[in-house]
Amino acid sequence: MRKRIVAGNWKMNKTLDEALALTTEVVGMINDEVRGEVGVVLCPPSVYLPLLGKLTEGSRVGLGAQNCHQKASGAYTGEVSTPMLASLGIGYVLVGHSERRQYFGENDALLAEKTKAALAEGLVPIFCCGESLDERQNQDYEAIVKAQLTASLFDLNAEEFGNVVIAYEPIWAIGTGLTASSQQAQDMHAALRAHIAAHYGSTIADDTTILYGGSCNEKNAAELFACPDVDGGLIGGASLKSREFTNIVKARM
Ligand code: PEP
Repeated sequence: MRKRIVAGNWKMNKTLDEALALTTEVVGMINDEVRGEVGVVLCPPSVYLPLLGKLTEGSRVGLGAQNCHQKASGAYTGEVSTPMLASLGIGYVLVGHSERRQYFGENDALLAEKTKAALAEGLVPIFCCGESLDERQNQDYEAIVKAQLTASLFDLNAEEFGNVVIAYEPIWAIGTGLTASSQQAQDMHAALRAHIAAHYGSTIADDTTILYGGSCNEKNAAELFACPDVDGGLIGGASLKSREFTNIVKARM
């Protein structure tokens, strides 16, 4: 079934003490203030996951990694595999964030492998897609984002695809303060859902959780989340502040 999810992507931020404090605050606020079905996920730097798992245990806050390697084990110095992440008991992993695509050369084929690696270990991949500013202004940007899904996800069987969460994140809106308007977000989410329906059928498409990401904050979250095809958010900068992140989650209750 389609889920409401708000996930925070901390990126490469916070020292250990800061990470412990932020998690403690978020867990407390979510526990006290958030009701209903919304799922809450924090994606801190992987090095903190084991310790933060102790703080989130028994709470309604889940944990995710920001990246994973496509292979299960081996001589890949510096990398973290999906069996390792699964052994921590976490639930999610971001796959294909635009910063991974841009700075680490991750392409559609690699992201297909990472998605499969995550699913093989029972992790929910939050598959990120989105167009650049140049693509939005000069090209058929809907076709570009649909092609990202086709290339990385559409080899999955229906059962596998049913365990994937999509995050539409227009690159021009990430960390820029430029949010997609609710109409722009809704249009793309509806187009992606139709694209999924054409391949997997309307039941699976209706059940697919599609998050919006890109300068989402406590002021614009309610309007974005009110769109019928926007199921929640992937939050970057605003997830680094416990009060603001919790307010965004409350906008999705
Ligand atoms: C992100 O990096 O996934 C993101 C959405 O960042 P921000 O909210 O800071 O734009």
